[in-house]
Amino acid sequence: MSNVLFPLIEIVSVFITQSVSSLVVLSLFYALTVTPLGDSPVQIFCPKCHQTVLTKVDYTPGLLTYLFCGGLFFCGFVLGCCLIPFCVDRLRNAKHTCPTCNTVLGVYKRL
Ligand SMILES: [Zn+2]
Repeated sequence: MSNVLFPLIEIVSVFITQSVSSLVVLSLFYALTVTPLGDSPVQIFCPKCHQTVLTKVDYTPGLLTYLFCGGLFFCGFVLGCCLIPFCVDRLRNAKHTCPTCNTVLGVYKRL
């Protein structure tokens, strides 16, 4: 019985060792290919569709947008002029999505 069981244990241990080592290599690959996200499209590897894509950027209001809005309001920019930061891309957060599978790949926050 032990003669039959020993090769099976060895095969299972080799399989586990190879799985763990390939997982470490895969995580190292992701760590080395991570590109810092900015406010413009970047080329990045999508982990869902396994393709290298140029990200699609959508701008959404963030903390800096609301701070500028409040600052303009208290400086006398009323009657809708304090809403100008909501139209300026440089004051909004940039959300990077995959153009193929629409997976959110990251968000660049101003603050
Ligand atoms: Zn994708």
